[in-house]
Amino acid sequence: MDEMLMHKPEEECGIFGVFNHPEASNLTYLGLYALQHRGQESCGIVSSDGVNLHAHKSMGLVADVFGNQEIFKSLPGRSAIGHVRYSTTGSSVIKNVQPINVDYSRGSIAVAHNGNLVNAQIIKDELEAYGSIFQTTMDTEIIVHLLATSKANSLLDRLTDALNRIQGAYCLLFLTETRMIAARDPNGFRPLCLGRLGSSYVVASESCALDLIDAEFIREIEPGEVVHVDKNGLTSYFPLKKVQPTPCIFEFVYFARPDSHIFGKNVYQVRKEQGRQLAREHKVDADIVIPIPDSGVPAALGYAEESGIPFELGLIRNHYVGRTFIEPQQAIRHFGVKIKLNPVREVLKGKRVVVIDDSIVRGTTSRKIVKMIRNAGAAEVHVRISSPPTSYPCYYGIDTPNRKELISSSHSIDEIRRYITADSLGYLSEEGLMASVGADKESFCHACFTGGYPVKFPRLAQDEEPQMPLFEKETEKK
Ligand code: AMP
Repeated sequence: MDEMLMHKPEEECGIFGVFNHPEASNLTYLGLYALQHRGQESCGIVSSDGVNLHAHKSMGLVADVFGNQEIFKSLPGRSAIGHVRYSTTGSSVIKNVQPINVDYSRGSIAVAHNGNLVNAQIIKDELEAYGSIFQTTMDTEIIVHLLATSKANSLLDRLTDALNRIQGAYCLLFLTETRMIAARDPNGFRPLCLGRLGSSYVVASESCALDLIDAEFIREIEPGEVVHVDKNGLTSYFPLKKVQPTPCIFEFVYFARPDSHIFGKNVYQVRKEQGRQLAREHKVDADIVIPIPDSGVPAALGYAEESGIPFELGLIRNHYVGRTFIEPQQAIRHFGVKIKLNPVREVLKGKRVVVIDDSIVRGTTSRKIVKMIRNAGAAEVHVRISSPPTSYPCYYGIDTPNRKELISSSHSIDEIRRYITADSLGYLSEEGLMASVGADKESFCHACFTGGYPVKFPRLAQDEEPQMPLFEKETEKK
């Protein structure tokens, strides 16, 4: 089967760009640094000196890939875009590192993409039938081919043609010799914001990247909006049919950084409210509330505040270990929890403990942690999760395993409780989650909790599970 067909979408990514600044590449490096939580496998920067594009990209963390000051000499110019990417084995090869940069009949163009297209394979089949040759296994490359093969004259018209063909989740940043263009899909699945630094424009997946470089937050780029920046300034277009925006609720639950401002809200405040709501929905008599760091911290603070149970740090995180999900194999992931977290026995001994985390995916983390807390002497362990059960995979850019690997897709809450060996288990309700965000259900994508996918999959039969026709289990590529 085609490689692009076989791998499941695993594009957790962050994008950043700056137009018209003497230190464009350096600022992009800093921006990517702030977005590292959105992808840790590979990263890259493409800069423009006004005549040519220059690229540096590699597997690894931002600090490693750009750790040598000399690299910035090879990234000259006043504009740059960058990308951080997460992927699992097979697709984590150097040819798949972004931004993609190509030369074509009309010049050079680079593109960085956050999100996943759902009709990538259909378009790829068509393009290949007409002779296109693909260099990568990324859906992003399709966009470049669509741009190159469009019959329209101006770049913006060609881009409109391309955007009209693709479906799914995308935040895109393009860089040519003389312009930077940002585009967000009509559903607005992933966050994207616009900032200003003096007379330069900055675009970033999350506002925390603007903060680091002291850029002023102007606004979010709207769902369906295309923002074009060149020497004449900034122009905004809405070339696509409007739909009800459905930004990703899981960005609030887990993915975005708590100091970021996305979808009109501060992530920390939303998470804290989730914790308060969780305390109202799932009270328990206990002595202490502890978070699973870092993802459970704001919700645990909210839970403690609302319940009146003291907040403690019962687990200490080693910050120099990446997210446990990075390790692709089950055996390593089990080990990973221990590498990452260690209990504080003096805090936990003899205590009835409420443990807060943002989500349970396969259940392996919670199971290890409950055991760890008991071994440290806790009298009772009550697990509280600040989101509803994650029962469906995401096809719009959050890395989740297949449906059968999601523990809540096939187990009741009590079965999960027994599996993770907790004394009690409570998940935040869907209503509670929406109340924390202060929005109604229709205005967010909550497919991971409900299976209600806002953008459909073109090749799925009516009654077929949205298990993606495309994605079998990933196989190792040679
Ligand atoms: P698991 O052990 O499979 O149940 O994983 C649960 C843990 O993974 C929780 O602590 C979450 O904070 C974290 N998590 C949830 N979703 C993701 C994701 N898409 N990528 C990485 N980690 C995640």
